[in-house]
Amino acid sequence: MPKQNCPLCNMPAEFIPDDFGRRKKFVCPKCKRFVISLKTEKNLSDLSAGQKNDFSIKSSRCPSDHVLFISTDDADGITIRCTPESDLK
Ligand SMILES: [Zn+2]
Repeated sequence: MPKQNCPLCNMPAEFIPDDFGRRKKFVCPKCKRFVISLKTEKNLSDLSAGQKNDFSIKSSRCPSDHVLFISTDDADGITIRCTPESDLK
């Protein structure tokens, strides 16, 4: 798998390209698994360290068959939801 430092906690992590390269599914030793679009990954740099840490904790607490889906909404900005992995197909 391609390696990249986790955009949430900065630990060395791996990702799987998803949705024809528009999203990345990260596997991080700290945050566990989350899915993020390339656009949202860029927007994450606007968040405070505290907000990213909050996302990291929420991601690590998702049930094992769930992932944290981090997306950007024009109205609400960056939103997160813990979702069954099968719903993202
Ligand atoms: Zn992480």
